[in-house]
Amino acid sequence: MNYSTRYREAQVLVSADGEVTTLEDRRFDWRERKEKTMRLGDLYDKAGYPDYAARARDCATFLQFNVYQSGERRLRTANFCKLRLCPMCIGRRARRSAWKLSQVLDQVEREHQAKFIFLTLTVENVPGEQLGNTLGQLAQAWQRFLDQRQIKRTVKGWFRAIEITRGDGIRKADKGYHPHIHAILAVDPDYFSRSSRQAGKYLNQADLIDRWQKALRVDYKPSVQIATTKGKRKGGGVESASLAAAKEASKYPIKDEEYIDPALPEDRAIEIIRDYTEALRRRRLTAFGGWMKDAARALDAEDLEDGDLVHTEEDVVRTDLLVMVEHYGWHFGAGDFILSNREINPLDVK
Ligand SMILES: [Zn+2]
Repeated sequence: MNYSTRYREAQVLVSADGEVTTLEDRRFDWRERKEKTMRLGDLYDKAGYPDYAARARDCATFLQFNVYQSGERRLRTANFCKLRLCPMCIGRRARRSAWKLSQVLDQVEREHQAKFIFLTLTVENVPGEQLGNTLGQLAQAWQRFLDQRQIKRTVKGWFRAIEITRGDGIRKADKGYHPHIHAILAVDPDYFSRSSRQAGKYLNQADLIDRWQKALRVDYKPSVQIATTKGKRKGGGVESASLAAAKEASKYPIKDEEYIDPALPEDRAIEIIRDYTEALRRRRLTAFGGWMKDAARALDAEDLEDGDLVHTEEDVVRTDLLVMVEHYGWHFGAGDFILSNREINPLDVK
């Protein structure tokens, strides 16, 4: 996976009047994210992870785009590092997750006329050395929550993502980390009806707090937020409720602002990177169940963490002619993506 950077630095496509072309893409902030991967590389080195440092620096140094007759451009190939903390890969995952999750919700809505409920389930903040264990406990508590009789009866499908944010403080002793679960529950179409309330299927907040407390096996009342998607439908420029909800739930579990932040003292940034790296080892943060799992499987959406980071949106229509493939390389000296090759009329590429 190591591309020679020296080789690519030498390859810069220069126009007749000596201009070099840099990458413009209003859909994705390539340059900004690439700069952050370089910063992450430095922090990884200082945190004692030289292999990760090298991978982060090498992430997305090489990009190819399909350019279509309509002017549409789509990423065709890239060398992503796929590290959990990589700001470039986090950006790609977030886009793919929002796209795939909205497809899943649309399908479940179509097939089952399902309604959706959004939950945020929290646990008390924990210090860095307990973060990994707490992530494991959250996943187990989620399973116990689902196994409760009333939940089982009401919830026909679900998606959950564990998100981690850090306390506001910049000193070690401050506020620790705040891992929590964002969940989307699919329920029957008559869930909001009077009969459903009478049948005791309806979940209210006080009840959910008790249930989550029981599932967590803690002696305090954990904070639980609940929201539903009523109203807002497609058309009239209003974003579909499911897409908006999917975006909310799929904000990637980790935000690079938590450690790539100029305002953060470097020793603190290094400490956060160590805590995250150790806590996240071999842990899956997202999962699907029931109707949502069936839909996710059918839509190649099951793996939101390690899935394809190249295709993160709907492809252009088949009839649109591919006219060109553009190659960009990250130019370490210039700190930008620079056009290195253009294949006009690439006959055999689809
Ligand atoms: Zn990456």
